[in-house]
Amino acid sequence: MVSLKEFNYSELERWVRKQGWKKFRAKQLSKWIYTKKVRSFDEMTDLSKDIRNFLNKNSKLNVLSLASYEKSSEDGSIKFLWKLEDGHTIESVFIPERGHNTLCVSTQVGCAVGCKFCFTTTDGLIRNLTTAEIIDQYIQSQIFVGLDRRISNVVYMGMGEPLANYENVKKSVQILTDDRMLGLSNRKITISSSGIIHQIKKMYEDSTFPQVRLAISLNAADQGTREKIMPISETNSIHDLMETLNRLPIKTGYRIMLEYVLIKGINDRPEDAHNLAKLIGRHKKRYKVNIIPFNPFPGSEFKRPDKDTVEKFHKILWQYNIGAFVRWSKGADISAACGQLRKKEIDRLVKIV
Ligand code: SAH
Ligand code: SF4
Repeated sequence: MVSLKEFNYSELERWVRKQGWKKFRAKQLSKWIYTKKVRSFDEMTDLSKDIRNFLNKNSKLNVLSLASYEKSSEDGSIKFLWKLEDGHTIESVFIPERGHNTLCVSTQVGCAVGCKFCFTTTDGLIRNLTTAEIIDQYIQSQIFVGLDRRISNVVYMGMGEPLANYENVKKSVQILTDDRMLGLSNRKITISSSGIIHQIKKMYEDSTFPQVRLAISLNAADQGTREKIMPISETNSIHDLMETLNRLPIKTGYRIMLEYVLIKGINDRPEDAHNLAKLIGRHKKRYKVNIIPFNPFPGSEFKRPDKDTVEKFHKILWQYNIGAFVRWSKGADISAACGQLRKKEIDRLVKIV
C-alpha cells in the first residue's frame, strides 16, 4: 500500500489523475498532509466520504511510529527513535537553536561506508529508507514538538550516507523545498556526504535535484590519514575529491562545509591544521570548516582530544583566514551527537508506548 508521502508534487498529481479525480485534489491532499499535517484521511474534511474511504483502503499516510524519545536536559534537543513498518528502527534529532529549529534526519538503516570513528556503520548497511520514511521524520517530529515551533532547517547528517540513497533523498528534498508541499528554503537544507565523487558530480549535473547546501566529511588533510579512518578514500582520493569540490558550480552564499572530526592522536596535530589550510589553498571563500570533537561510543578505539588541542587547531585555521567553527555536539548527554545515531536499547530511552 502506497504512502502519499512517497510522491513529489508531479507524482501526486499523476496519482490523483489515475484515480479519475480532478487535478486540484493534489492541492487539497498536499494542504492536509504538509500544511496542516493531519495524521489521518478522516480529518480531511473537504474531501467526499467516497474519496476518504478510497484513500483509507488503498493508501496510507504514516510510515513511522514513535518507539521512544529522549530529551537533553542540557540544551533541549530531542532524540527520536522511530519504528519502521518492517521492525527496524532509525533516529532523528531535533535541535532547538536561537532563532531557528533544526532536524537531523537519517537516510539509511545503518551505513555501508565503514568510517572507523562512526557508530552507525558498525553492522553495515541494512537498507535504504524510502522517501516517505525520510519525510515522515520531519512531519512527525514537527507534530511532536508542536506546529508553533517550526522546523526551518534540515540536515542530512543522521544515520546513513545520503548520496548512496540518491533517488529517495532527491525526492525528499523536492518535497521539503516545494512551496506546494513543505516549502522550506533551499539554503536551510544541508546534505552531508562522506565524499562519493561520482555521486556528488551527478547531483550537481541533475537539474531535478534542488540545489541545497553541501557538507563533506573530510576528517583528514592527507591521503594516508584519511585512508586509515575512511576506507572510502581508497577509491575516492582526497586529491580527486578536492579537485571536484573546487570546481562545483555552487551558488553564491552556499559555501561547502568541510566537516572535520577531531580524533586524539590521529588527525589533531598543529601540522594537520596547517595541512588542511594548504589543502584549501586559494579556495578559502568556497569553504568553511566545521570542527567536531570526536564523540566516543562503547567499543570505540578512539578518544576525544582535550579542549586546548581543539582550540589550537581552530586558531591555526583562523590564522590562515579560513572560516572555521567548533561544533561541540548538541545532545551529547543523550548520545544524540553526530556519529552516535544507531539503534539503542530502548529501555535507555524514555519509554512512551
Ligand atoms: N554519512 C554522512 C552523513 C552522516 S554522518 C557523512 O558521513 O557525512 C554526519 C557527520 O558525523 C559526519 O561529518 C561524520 O564525520 C560525523 N561523525 C561520525 N561519527 C562521529 C563521531 N563518533 N564523533 C563525531 N562526529 C562523528
Ligand atoms: Fe556512514 Fe557517514 Fe558514518 Fe561514514 S560517517 S560510516 S558515511 S554515516
